[in-house]
Order: sequence, then structure tokens, then C-alpha cells
Amino acid sequence: MEIGDWGLVEGIVFDIQRYSVHDGPGLRTNVFLKGCPLRCAWCANPESQNLQPELMLAAHSCMTCGQFVTPCPVCWEEAGSADLRIAQLGERPFVCPTGAIHWVGERRSAGDVMAEVRRDAPFYDRSGGLTLTGGEATMQPAFAEALLRLAQAEGIHTALETSGHTQWSVFERLLPHLDLLLYDLKHVDSELHRRHTGLDNALILANLCRIADLPAPKLIVRVPVIPGFNADAASLSAIAAFVLSLGRRVSEINLLPYHTLGKSKYQALGRDYPWDDQPRLTDAEMQRLAAVVATEVAPAGTPVRIGG
Ligand code: SF4
Repeated sequence: MEIGDWGLVEGIVFDIQRYSVHDGPGLRTNVFLKGCPLRCAWCANPESQNLQPELMLAAHSCMTCGQFVTPCPVCWEEAGSADLRIAQLGERPFVCPTGAIHWVGERRSAGDVMAEVRRDAPFYDRSGGLTLTGGEATMQPAFAEALLRLAQAEGIHTALETSGHTQWSVFERLLPHLDLLLYDLKHVDSELHRRHTGLDNALILANLCRIADLPAPKLIVRVPVIPGFNADAASLSAIAAFVLSLGRRVSEINLLPYHTLGKSKYQALGRDYPWDDQPRLTDAEMQRLAAVVATEVAPAGTPVRIGG
């Protein structure tokens, strides 16, 4: 396949964040792909989980525009199910003056997405670039590969943020086109992992071990620190011990503090927030937990950072 042909590959994108300072070095263009095999109860991007586009309603942004006898928020409540909402309201996003009701997720070609990414390229300097995230970008392997190949061909730094839950054959396709892999590690206890994410961690741990045996790409392990799940010394110490068992291959561990910024999105999707009433961690608590991890990985000298 010629490099230009990769531009024709299509996938579902639900957001593109430009000028981001997260998810990789320098200034990033973060492309969010839809679809994820996990259902983490604390997920901050619930609109990413289903592969297909979804209808969302931010009721507070509705201005009761008068185009319809029954305003969208009232119809939304009365419909009760996602299918009925789509049947009754699916056309309204195209005429809503405020964007209160909107579809999230759009089918786009890799070439079209790259045209948007390319607009940021003058600002990348030497370290910035493209980050594929989601959702779980490996759910759309051909599209992810196309984007990475196109970026690589233009000399753009490439990163992938992943839960690690994908077939090894998908990583085999993507790894040669990556400069950086941001690998989420949520828990080493398989049963706890299954209970709170919907799937056990066997594939995630096995893939991480295989990647650690390879010389590239650069590998950063990221741990979302979630109260009620893994925000305790024993859980994080066990995760750090697993990272230590990979030797010096992991260049950094990032601890990502739990937040509730995605909570309103559940309401906009017509779903309940499944991880309620959890206190946010203080800076002091995060520092203490970071110290626990740093102590565990000290023999390998792996830096531990809060945020990422
Ligand atoms: S189209 Fe938009 S502004 Fe009008 S009723 Fe629906 S959500 Fe409200």
C-alpha cells in the first residue's frame, strides 16, 4: 500500500484537542478515537466507550429555541432509552442553535484528520507531535495504523495512549510507527480489575511484558490513582513491583490523580455516574503515594511523576 493510500482509511473520531500539553512531550495534537473494551467505573470520557456515534444533550445549554413544540430536554426525559432518543431527536443536532443537543463521534478519513494535525506542526518544535488516545485507539487498528504511518512519514513525533487490552497482533501493527507508548496500568489484582473495569488484566499484563522485551518505543507506564480502587499504598506498591520486574525498560511512571470532570457527560448521555461519592485526593496524599511508588522502583531508578 502506498503511503498516500493510508489517507483513505476511515475511522470514528470524537474529538481532536490541539495545542495540548498532556499525553506526550511538547505541544501535542491529541486525536480521540471512539470505542473501548473496558468500562472503568471512574471513566472521565464515557462518550468514548461505544464505538458508534452517540447522541448527547447538555440540557443547561438549551435556550428553548422554539423550533419544536416540545423542547429537547423534555423529549429526552420522556424517551427513556437511547434508541427512542435517537428516533425522536436524532435530527435535531443539525438545527440546534446552541449545540446543546449534538452527536459525538464522526466518521473521518485518516487524510482528513492529518490535514487538521498538520496545522499544529509548525508549533511542535522538536518534541511535540501527534498522540492517539480515546477511548482505546487500538479498537480501530487500521485507522490508528494509518494515522501513525502518515504522521511518521512526515517526521511528526507519534505517541499512543492505551489501556493495553488488545490482541498482540494489533500492537505488532502499531509499535513500529510509534516513538512513545503511554501504557495504562490500573491494578495487578485481576479480580479487582475485572470488578471495576469489566475485564481482567491478563492480556494487559502479558502485552506489557512483551513490549518491555522490545528495544522501542519509549515506554511510560501511567497509573490512574482512584480512591476506592487503587489509591492505597498496598495497591500502588504492587503495581510498582510489577514495573520493577520489567527492569529498566520503563522510562517513567506517571500517577494520574482521580478527578470528576467527566461527571456531567454521563448525564448528557442519559447514564448514571457509576463512581460517585469518592473524595478527591489531596496534593499531600498524592505526594505520599508517589513516594511509595518511588521507593519500590528505586532499584531501577525509574522516575515517578504526578500528572502526565
Ligand atoms: S434545538 Fe437546541 S436550543 Fe432548541 S430546544 Fe433543542 S436543545 Fe434546546
